[in-house]
Amino acid sequence: MADKTKKLGAYDREFLWHPFTQMKEYEETDPIVIEGGEGVYLYDTEGKKYIDGVSSLWVNIHGHKVPEIDRAIKEQVDKLSHSTLLGATNPPAVELAKELIDICPPGLKRVFYSGDGASAVEVALKMSFQYWQHNSKPEKTKFVFLENGYHGDTLGAVSVGGIDLFHSTFKPLLFETYKAPSYYCYRCPLGKEYPSCEIACAKEIENILKAHHDEVCAVILEPYVQAAGGMIVAPEGYLKMIREYCDRYDVLMILDEVATGFGRTGEMFACQHEGVTPDIMVLGKGMTGGYLPLSATITNQKVYDAFLGDYEEFKTFFHGHSYAGNPISCAASLGNLEVFKKYKTLEYLQEKIECFEQELKEFEGLKHVGNVRNKGLMAGIELVEDKETKKPYELSKKMGWKIAEIAIKNEVLIRPLGNVVVLMLPLGIDTVDLKKLMKVTYRAIKEATES
Ligand code: PMP
Repeated sequence: MADKTKKLGAYDREFLWHPFTQMKEYEETDPIVIEGGEGVYLYDTEGKKYIDGVSSLWVNIHGHKVPEIDRAIKEQVDKLSHSTLLGATNPPAVELAKELIDICPPGLKRVFYSGDGASAVEVALKMSFQYWQHNSKPEKTKFVFLENGYHGDTLGAVSVGGIDLFHSTFKPLLFETYKAPSYYCYRCPLGKEYPSCEIACAKEIENILKAHHDEVCAVILEPYVQAAGGMIVAPEGYLKMIREYCDRYDVLMILDEVATGFGRTGEMFACQHEGVTPDIMVLGKGMTGGYLPLSATITNQKVYDAFLGDYEEFKTFFHGHSYAGNPISCAASLGNLEVFKKYKTLEYLQEKIECFEQELKEFEGLKHVGNVRNKGLMAGIELVEDKETKKPYELSKKMGWKIAEIAIKNEVLIRPLGNVVVLMLPLGIDTVDLKKLMKVTYRAIKEATES
């Protein structure tokens, strides 16, 4: 091991506390130290390279070291690094807001910036809560959320989070909500089968709204894919049904596109597969192409207008983050959108998605793969101890991690979610690297589960 790796590893173990990481175990390992990136490859301090199979935790879009984004950032640094958006503005923040509105589903009109996904979710929750205060329905204070949903780790986001492993500890700190079943067809929470179920899980949301719409301000969900919940893919038509129910019962619809946004599912935003426009859409992660933190909460005119008034009415949205609309982040985001346009990314993506789906079919034949699901370049491969009974592996067996470790040895970086092997491919991947990644992942699953 190179001296540099040893030294960084030692300091890392001594001084850092890593997110979502059991540090007792971590302290006994030699971490991979990533010091470079180019295209879909990451390079460590030992000179090894890896395909970035989860897009650096779902943020990277076109690859690393993208000339257009690099240039946009460098040019902006020479002009202005930061100035506040509280009562003033800056050119990249304005230009980006305009571009975002151009590509958003029709009807979304206003961009509110924050730094990361969870903050943008908090904004969405607070906006929808306050919206009803200004619309003479102050009793509409509760949210409907989905089991297996994930919206970030701040307390508001955790209140509408549906992953018990992450969220149950904090229950005493959370606000009251209504939980609806997940659109998890492989393990249907209602014990039904698609399509004969007629998407009964969506109808459960209608039932909640029918009974409680007087006290519900919004429904929040991830459109099409519950990502952190295990890459769970919604049946077609689901999203449209939820939109109809929200309209029927006068409740706002918040779509969290933090993971699904920016082409990940094959459309720029997942809700565009079904022509659905939410009242509030949340963006993050891929917004800067995976370069810098930036997120946005985008609302329709109706929501925005509810906050207008004379100063002394105090209808102002009293919320803001220091780095909101940071010009360097916004410049990176403009660079990201420039790449989409210049290289017709979404058009060329379709061929990659077909290739990906073809490759994914192979996995269905593996003895311990119970379910393979994807939307665009997001996929979940669910491992089971017994295919017949769908019995999952005990989490303590860390089967997902065993697979990731084998893949990493073979130059593919992936990170599982429990028993689900997650693939979140950068849109910039070519079919050669895609096939290589799939081969390594297939062999890793086979080796870990069958030997
Ligand atoms: N919403 C969704 C759907 C997410 O997947 C995530 C992060 N995985 C978040 C919100 C939170 O984003 P961040 O980590 O940037 O706070």
